[in-house]
Amino acid sequence: MLYKDFLKIERECPFCEKTNRIIKEEDNAFLTYSLAPYHKHHLLVVPTRHTEFFEDLNDDETKSIEKLLHFGVKILKSLGYKDYTILVRNGENLGKSVRHLHYHIVPVALIGDVDHKGYEREIMTEKEIEILMNEFKVAEEKI
Ligand SMILES: [Zn+2]
Repeated sequence: MLYKDFLKIERECPFCEKTNRIIKEEDNAFLTYSLAPYHKHHLLVVPTRHTEFFEDLNDDETKSIEKLLHFGVKILKSLGYKDYTILVRNGENLGKSVRHLHYHIVPVALIGDVDHKGYEREIMTEKEIEILMNEFKVAEEKI
């Protein structure tokens, strides 16, 4: 079944449903694998509580997630992978298909040599870096 068709099936949140696909569990999160993987060994770390956004995580959830990310990476290393990508999508516009927050751990995935608009990536100029650093500084002061 294609993933896009799988998503059309009416269901409760797939990450809130009881699953027997748990590889490891912590108090506030669990490690599982993707049913529609980018790669054969595509792992997912999911907070137990249904929460949509990264910024809504509490400290206990963050600790559990961090432990499981490390554990998931160890599994990939144990499987023989040297490289991996950890990815979190925050928002439907980025192709996030399940609203329940989840972290992807994907071996050997290349994000690519094109930017988010599909253009060849370019090195920033000194001026662009200066503007960027200033924007980060202003943003940091608002936190
Ligand atoms: Zn959920």
